[in-house]
Amino acid sequence: MTQHVLVLGGGVIGLSCAFELRRRGFGVTLLEQGRCGGQASGAAAGMLAPYSENVEEPDAFFRLCLRSLNLYPDWQLAVKEASGLDFEYSATGSLYVMYHDADVQAMESRRLWQDGHGAKSELLDAAELRRLEPHIAPEAIGALRYPGESHVYAPDYVKALEEACRRTGVVIRDGLGPVDILRWQDGAEVRSPASGETYRGDILLVANGAWAGLMEEAFGMAIPVYPIRGQICAYETPEMPVRHMVFCSQGYVVGKRNGTLVCGASEDVAGFETTVTRRGIARLESWNGKLFPFLGGMRPFHEWAGLRPATHDGFPLLGRLRRSDSLLFAAGHYRNGILLSPVTAHVVADLLEGRDSSGPELAPFEPERFGVRA
Ligand SMILES: Cc1cc2nc3c(=O)[nH]c(=O)nc-3n(C[C@H](O)[C@H](O)[C@H](O)COP(=O)(O)OP(=O)(O)OC[C@H]3O[C@@H](n4cnc5c(N)ncnc54)[C@H](O)[C@@H]3O)c2cc1C
Repeated sequence: MTQHVLVLGGGVIGLSCAFELRRRGFGVTLLEQGRCGGQASGAAAGMLAPYSENVEEPDAFFRLCLRSLNLYPDWQLAVKEASGLDFEYSATGSLYVMYHDADVQAMESRRLWQDGHGAKSELLDAAELRRLEPHIAPEAIGALRYPGESHVYAPDYVKALEEACRRTGVVIRDGLGPVDILRWQDGAEVRSPASGETYRGDILLVANGAWAGLMEEAFGMAIPVYPIRGQICAYETPEMPVRHMVFCSQGYVVGKRNGTLVCGASEDVAGFETTVTRRGIARLESWNGKLFPFLGGMRPFHEWAGLRPATHDGFPLLGRLRRSDSLLFAAGHYRNGILLSPVTAHVVADLLEGRDSSGPELAPFEPERFGVRA
């Protein structure tokens, strides 16, 4: 008999899981309290950058990111084909810029361990960097180049995912407001007081990003997921002067095919507030000018913010609960949810098909690792 999955949350994670589950023959209903893609996923810079984002060691999170990067070429084609919508997927590579001689040693050790994991990176001196990025600041003394990192235009990617879900037969109910969890053991039942409807399924997948932490009571467990606001801005450039994704220790700059230069991002604690502050954007403006002096004289034409779903140990909650076969989590992807969307969808679908393809690799992401209530 076809199993029916209720997916809670219509961000990139919920939509990706819904799409993959539907492709594998599950019945899927996605429940969204607001608008699909209306939170962190639509706000993201869209970088697929496992090496630039993981600079310490090859831990389980890094390996998950890498697996997802490798899934992207096929995954993005599948989303485009199923949705009939195009979105930018650009294999520009990235540059991590250095300003001080003291940075070179740290970059070299990062290069050594990451090259053991397919980075194929290259340490560039100032002249080589300037040849690749002619407008870079004169203070930059070199960069680490990762040719395999890429990016998507996140708002369009999420729109295409939503359309791919609809076209393949995922039932999407949005604008539901806060919902009540009525059952999560031995089946799933969720009620929306706003719509007056009750939704039933065999499985409940919790994929509601930064809001997952509000569900401790409902599931009787510790869920230390909380929102970290990212303020971000974009400049309009007539001819794209930046060729790569360019990182420094304080932020990043990514040129999009539509002529916008996206620059991010703050990491501040403001509860569930998604407004931008003058202070937050001013800090970005100051760093953008230090990376690319031509930005020093410009003002962003667009400023916005989103809520990254952070966790206490930096790892997402991904997998099935020990206490119930009917409940799974896919939440807490923090800075890398766009990158991690294909692998998350594959892991969830494999688990529900009874194919535990990730095995011990998933242990660090166990949803109940922070404790359950007696
Ligand atoms: C400024 C910024 C830049 C970023 N840049 C990148 C990047 O370059 N690369 C990258 O990989 N990642 C990036 N991220 C991180 C990425 O955006 C997130 O990790 C990702 O979007 C998380 O997806 P999600 O679906 O879990 O959460 P969300 O997109 O927040 O979606 C969760 C959804 O659940 C809904 N919801 C909440 N509670 C309920 C409920 N009870 N019932 C029903 N629905 C509910 C919400 O309304 C929301 O739509 C960035 C984030 C920010 C803020």
